[in-house]
Amino acid sequence: MDDGQTKVFKGFRVQHNNARGPFKGGIRFHPEETIDVVRALAARMTWKCAVVDIPLGGGKGGVICNPKEMSNGELERLRRGYIDAIWEFIGPDRDIPAPDVYTNPQIMGWMMDEYSKLRGQCSPGVITGKPLAVGGSLGRGDATARGGVYTIIEAASHLGIDLSSATVAIQGYGNAGSHAALILYNTLGSKIVAISDSKGGIHNKQGLDPHRVLQHKTETGSVINFPQAEKLSKAELLELGVDILCPAGLETVLTETNAGNVKAKIVAELANGPTTPEADEILYSNEVFVIPDFLCNAGGVTVSYFEWVQSLGRYYWDESEIHQRLGKIMKKAFQAVLAESLKRKINMRLAAYIVAVARVTEAMRLRGWV
Ligand code: GLU
Repeated sequence: MDDGQTKVFKGFRVQHNNARGPFKGGIRFHPEETIDVVRALAARMTWKCAVVDIPLGGGKGGVICNPKEMSNGELERLRRGYIDAIWEFIGPDRDIPAPDVYTNPQIMGWMMDEYSKLRGQCSPGVITGKPLAVGGSLGRGDATARGGVYTIIEAASHLGIDLSSATVAIQGYGNAGSHAALILYNTLGSKIVAISDSKGGIHNKQGLDPHRVLQHKTETGSVINFPQAEKLSKAELLELGVDILCPAGLETVLTETNAGNVKAKIVAELANGPTTPEADEILYSNEVFVIPDFLCNAGGVTVSYFEWVQSLGRYYWDESEIHQRLGKIMKKAFQAVLAESLKRKINMRLAAYIVAVARVTEAMRLRGWV
C-alpha cells in the first residue's frame, strides 16, 4: 500500500467449461465479491459464448477489494499481483480474461504487460478490453451496450414497439448503462426518462440528455443532483411505466418483491444476473418480455472475441466492420432464441439455455467427454 504496509487481498479465477474453446470471461473488483458469484458468472460465460456461437468457453475472475478507496498505484500493484498469482493458468489458447465490474482498458493494459513480462514474450492475445495502442479493438468500449441495443431492436420489432418514441429507464450508469442510453438516444431517438446509479436516481418525463448526465456523473461522481431532473429512488426506477427497462448494474435487482410491479414491456438485461428465478416467473406470467442477460449483454464478449482474433492475427479491422459483424451475430442469436421460445412456448431465458446448452453438450460429445 502507499503507506508502506503490506495488505493481502483474496481473489479467484474460475474455469467452467472449455469444450468450445479457451475459457473466457471478465475480472471483477468488488468489496462484496464471493467465490459463489464468480462460479455462477463463469458458468454464465459458457452459455453466453455458446448462445452467440463464438468459439470460446466460460470463466470468470474476482478480487475482493474496494477500488474506490485505493490509489492508482495501489490498484496497479493489485492488478499485477493478481496476474502474478494466476498467470500459469491463463494464456491466449487457455483462458482469456477481460473487463468487468470496476475495470477499464488501462487495467487490461497492465495485466497484459504483466503476463507478457512473465512469459518473456509480447502476448496481446491473453486479455481483451485493452487500450487501442497495445492491441485493443475498435468498438470494444461500447460493445456490451451496442450488442444489447441490437437485441432490443429485434425485440421491439417482434412486439411492434416503435423505438423512436419509446421511453427508457436505465438502472446503473457505468460502461453498459451509459453507452446503452447514448446509443438509444443518438441513433434511435428513444427517450431516456430515468437513470440511476449506486447513489440514487433521477427522472424527467420530457427526457434526459444522456451526454449531460454522463458529464455530470464524471464531474460529481454520481447522476444524483442532476439539475434538469427530479429525484427518484433506485427502487422506484424499476417500477416506472416505461417501454424499456435496462438493468445495467449489479446482480439481483428484480426479485419476487418488486417483479410484480414492473410495468416495462421489455426488460433488457445488460447486467449479469439482475433477475432472480422467482422474479423471472412473475415477469413471464405478466407478459413482460425479458431479453436474458447472457444474450442481451453478449456483445461485450463478442467484440472481445473479435479483439482476440485481431490480436492473434496482428491485423486490425475498422470500426464499421466491427459494428456490422456484431450486429449480424446478435441478430442471429436473438432470432435463434426467439424461435425456440415460440416453438416450445417458454420464456426467452429458458429458450436461450436450450440453445446454448445444446451447443456445449454437442462439443463435449464430439470431443468424447460424455
Ligand atoms: N465481462 C463481460 C461479460 O460478462 C465481458 C467478458 C469478455 O469480454 O470476455 O460478458
